[in-house]
Order: sequence, then structure tokens, then C-alpha cells
Amino acid sequence: PVIASRLFHLALRSSSPKSLLMFPQPYRACVAHTRLHSSHVKQRSYWQYLKRKVLKPPSPPYQHVCQVGDPILRSMASEVDPAKIASPEIQRVIRTLVAVMRRLECVGLSAPQIGVPLQILAAEFTERMISDHPQGMREAKGLSAFPLRVFVNPRVRVLDSRTSSFLEGCESISGFSACVPRYLSVEISGLNERGEPVTWKTSGWPARIIQHEMDHLNGVLYIDKMDSKTFNNVAWMEANE
Ligand SMILES: [Zn+2]
Repeated sequence: PVIASRLFHLALRSSSPKSLLMFPQPYRACVAHTRLHSSHVKQRSYWQYLKRKVLKPPSPPYQHVCQVGDPILRSMASEVDPAKIASPEIQRVIRTLVAVMRRLECVGLSAPQIGVPLQILAAEFTERMISDHPQGMREAKGLSAFPLRVFVNPRVRVLDSRTSSFLEGCESISGFSACVPRYLSVEISGLNERGEPVTWKTSGWPARIIQHEMDHLNGVLYIDKMDSKTFNNVAWMEANE
């Protein structure tokens, strides 16, 4: 998902790095050298280990978002049989997709990110999310609100092949962001959550969201398209506090 509204908040929020300072120097150095992660993605605790011994592991559609490294994020999502869109299984995938997207306050999410290798994406950009941004930024980024949209088996056509580059994040690459060039305007068509044909022509930030989520259905992540020199940890400022 494209994290539009939260990037700047995340950068300013203060949390964990201070706790490292409380450890004696050798231990701290050890942590710094052996730690392979650099985000808030959950690590398995002893309690979780015990829980997993007793309870079955979760199964897709997950209530969480799969993280980069998970092979599902690199696989091609399969088409959904249009006759099955109304089925309880597909409706559950769509419901979960929307619920997870809203819980994480991200503006788009694709089925592979919740462990389901199907061509389904959801996007939503509320007025409240936009109100977090100063007016100048709204215009520069082409932010515009739109209601919840679900696409099954979507196809995208480029309407304006000029590009713009802005910071983009992804819930599957938690804790990072980078500038990614995206086409200015696209048309997306497919079926909605009721199996009805829908087409949407859009530009600016909504077009960016659509391109980002479409990439997920093809096993592509923004890190494949980013300007790598702009790749950043969203909490890099906290490290210096
Ligand atoms: Zn994403």
C-alpha cells in the first residue's frame, strides 16, 4: 500500500532507539552487529513460541500483512473466476483486505499481501487522510479523496505516460520509504466486489496508488522501481535523538 498520510508522522514519532542506550556498551554493540531487522515488524517471543505449540498457525486471508521475503509477494496472482466473486470464500478475502487496510490506515492493499495469491486489490483515500497534508503538498502530489474501491482481475491502461516521483511506502516493506516514479494518469478496469464491470480513470496520487497495488498482483515491489538513493528508514531521525 502507498502510505501517504503517515510517512511524515512516522518520521517524527519517537520510540524505541532510546531504550538501546540503557544497555551497557558491549551488549549494545552486539545488538547492533547481530540484528538483521530494522523495523517494528514483530519478532517471535517465547510466549508466541508456546502459543504456536498449542494453537494452529493463522491461515490466509491473514489479519496481518506479509513482509518482503515472503515468496507470495514475488508470485503472479491468479485471476478470480467471475462466477466465484459472490462466494463466501472470495467475499471473506475482500472483507479481510478492507478491514486490514483500514486498521493499518493505509490507502491501498492487495490480496497477496494478506497471503492470498489472487488478483484482488482495494483502495480508499479519505478526506481525513488528506487533511493531514499542507495545501501545497496536496497540490504537488495531486492528492484527492475517493471512496472505497475494490477491483477483481484489474487491468491498467496508461493515459498519460509522463511520470512524477514522490516518496512511497509499503506495508510489506515496513519501516522504509523511497521515491518512485509513476505515470501521471491511468485507467483501471475490472470487476467490483459484486462482480460488476467497473472502469476508473484517475490521475495524481490515486493513479500512484493503483499502479503500486497493480504491481503487487504481478509480484513487483516499489523497491524494484525506486530511485535507490532516496531509500530511507522512516525513523532515521529518531536514531540521532
Ligand atoms: Zn505495497
